[in-house]
Amino acid sequence: MAERYDAVVVGGGPNGLSAAVTIARAGRSVLLLEAEPVVGGGTRSEELTLPGFVHDVCSAVHPLGVSSPFFATLPLARHGLRWIQPPIALGHPLDDGSVVLVGRDVDATAASLGPDAAAYRGLVGPLVRDWSAVIPDVLAPFHVPADPERLARLARFGTRAIRPAQWLVRRFRRPQARAVFAGCAAHSMLRLGAPVTGAYGLLFLASAHAVGWPVAEGGSGRIGGALAGELAALGGEIATGRRVETIDALPAHHAALFDVTPRQLLRIAGPRLAGRYRSRLERYRYGSGSFKLDLALDGPVPWRNPELVGAGTVHVGGTFEEIAGTEALVRRGRIPARPFVLVSQQSLFDPTRAPAGKQTLWAYCHVPNDCAADMTEPILRQIERFAPGFRDRILAIHRMSPADLEAHDANLVGGDIGAGLQDLSQLFMRPAPRIDPYSTPDPGIWICSASTPPGPGVHGMSGHLAAASALRHRLR
Ligand SMILES: Cc1cc2nc3c(=O)[nH]c(=O)nc-3n(C[C@H](O)[C@H](O)[C@H](O)COP(=O)(O)OP(=O)(O)OC[C@H]3O[C@@H](n4cnc5c(N)ncnc54)[C@H](O)[C@@H]3O)c2cc1C
Repeated sequence: MAERYDAVVVGGGPNGLSAAVTIARAGRSVLLLEAEPVVGGGTRSEELTLPGFVHDVCSAVHPLGVSSPFFATLPLARHGLRWIQPPIALGHPLDDGSVVLVGRDVDATAASLGPDAAAYRGLVGPLVRDWSAVIPDVLAPFHVPADPERLARLARFGTRAIRPAQWLVRRFRRPQARAVFAGCAAHSMLRLGAPVTGAYGLLFLASAHAVGWPVAEGGSGRIGGALAGELAALGGEIATGRRVETIDALPAHHAALFDVTPRQLLRIAGPRLAGRYRSRLERYRYGSGSFKLDLALDGPVPWRNPELVGAGTVHVGGTFEEIAGTEALVRRGRIPARPFVLVSQQSLFDPTRAPAGKQTLWAYCHVPNDCAADMTEPILRQIERFAPGFRDRILAIHRMSPADLEAHDANLVGGDIGAGLQDLSQLFMRPAPRIDPYSTPDPGIWICSASTPPGPGVHGMSGHLAAASALRHRLR
């Protein structure tokens, strides 16, 4: 390890790694310090249940990864990352045995929605068409593009995205279209009557059509591994097992970039952060927690509707009203008896994930922040509801409560997988209102985690943009 670096990055999630790669690519020396034994943060895979079963501990499905303008500039395939596209991105079953299947073809999904076909096409179609042009403006801090065409496209998306999901689904007549929108909007972990929940519904649905919802061959750990591989190729250094408790413990540097959330930044560098900014960080709000199960199965999930075996992700929670009710309950601090469960069945499309004939299953639901309730039974009941006989296929279960998630990755405060509540104000002004949201009042400190724009997801844009800011202002 050198005595002095141009930059030190604390935290090796996709954003910390992206920050370090950006700095190394500019020809500057960089050291990345990661608390855990391996880098990757939310993109790690482990044999959590039985030997030979590879589970994604956190992130599993990556429409944002394949849409990321920064990842697109990196030779990640050369470092072992290969995306696998399930034929159907998303399936959403209902109790009557019907299912909505969201594949690449908007018209096919629309046609399956019967009388809601035109409304679905009208709502989602424009964003699918504009996807590659709009996404650089969406995966960025809030701004008004100078180019009139870009502005018009962003405005077309924004005027709908700002609406509550509950408002947007009023155009649909049948439960199927309303339900599939609800499942996507619920990724916001907000009440579906809250502003901006429409953005989640639109972005998740449009991404399924525009770029698919791929999984990483061999596990999400390959994403962190590929970013680390590129960092090493560029001459960047990584030290694992190095939890940073105070900024004073860092080796000499010009810029320090923190892939941590505001609560941790305050602990590590609080005395260096001035009054008003500091009090904004103290008031930063965290969102709901998650409870997660990873399962080793004796075979595929026996979905009542067999078309679901073609879907990488299945949203298990029933109708719009049911999902909206569940999410509202969680926001009020209550524990849902019938949670909304997000399921991913990666091994159906990636045989490297499980021994021959066996399968893995990834499932989580939202719970109040730091909630201690064991959600194993409610999650299993919900899957069994749409897949009778499912329990008979279970070989082993691994559970993660909100506290377990935080122990795995300190950024998952109280089990909040969004690095902070994603409501209207905190989505656009995270972690605090500032023209450059990555900078801090200390000219040598940046924050580069998902607690900065564009927010959660595996896209690396927060890290890349924070590093670009440090290069502009401190490392010229
Ligand atoms: C259960 C779950 C499911 C998810 N599913 C998806 C999904 O399907 N698709 C998707 O795109 N996103 C998903 N996400 C979200 C995604 O994982 C995160 O948004 C993303 O990983 C954020 O990246 P990051 O670099 O900001 O933080 P993280 O990935 O959380 O990385 C932070 C890193 O910093 C390290 N660190 C923290 N404190 C210190 C310290 N003091 N010293 C040194 N190191 C420190 C941590 O150990 C960690 O490695 C999911 C998250 C969870 C938990």
